[in-house]
Amino acid sequence: MEDLIRNLLAELGEDPTREGLLNTPKRVEKALRFLTSGYDADVDHVLNGALFTVEYSEMVIVKDIDFYSLCEHHLLPFFGKCHVAYIPSTKVIGLSKIPRLVDVFSRRLQVQERMTNQIAQTILEKTSPLGVAVVVEATHLCMSMRGVQKQNSFAVTSAMLGSFRANARTRMEFLELIKLRSSISGLREPSAAGMACIDEE
Ligand SMILES: [Zn+2]
Repeated sequence: MEDLIRNLLAELGEDPTREGLLNTPKRVEKALRFLTSGYDADVDHVLNGALFTVEYSEMVIVKDIDFYSLCEHHLLPFFGKCHVAYIPSTKVIGLSKIPRLVDVFSRRLQVQERMTNQIAQTILEKTSPLGVAVVVEATHLCMSMRGVQKQNSFAVTSAMLGSFRANARTRMEFLELIKLRSSISGLREPSAAGMACIDEE
């Protein structure tokens, strides 16, 4: 990868041998390996020993989870907050594991909509809850830095499954508790959002 980065620097019109750039290929490789380390993460390993059988069926919420990801269209960062809620039926996840789960799916090349769905689907599969809700609010540097669609460089996506989909009161309780920075009047379905990162040049 270091050779590729050196070539990239040269293609950009830089001199890869100048002092400030000498160690850049090594640093870039290290950074990229970390930022995509979610590919090597195993969900079962992350959750290992943290699934508990309990009699509890109230809403569990973990909000304001910071995440950083890379948009797969431009390899530029998008980042923000992820809010997760679920209503257990028989199993709960150790609370500290939910941010780890977010890391698994954010540390890859992503689109915001897919990341939102993957987090929700994983909690659904691993705990068979009555419902799962995931809301992601993110700023996309591929849009704000390039000056395109500035008004949409902040995007909100959601995945509502089970009782969060079926029951408007449950959904509103969750949305009220996380109090989105953005207006939530027209919360979009992940599949319909499509605007999180424009898939153009
Ligand atoms: Zn992008």
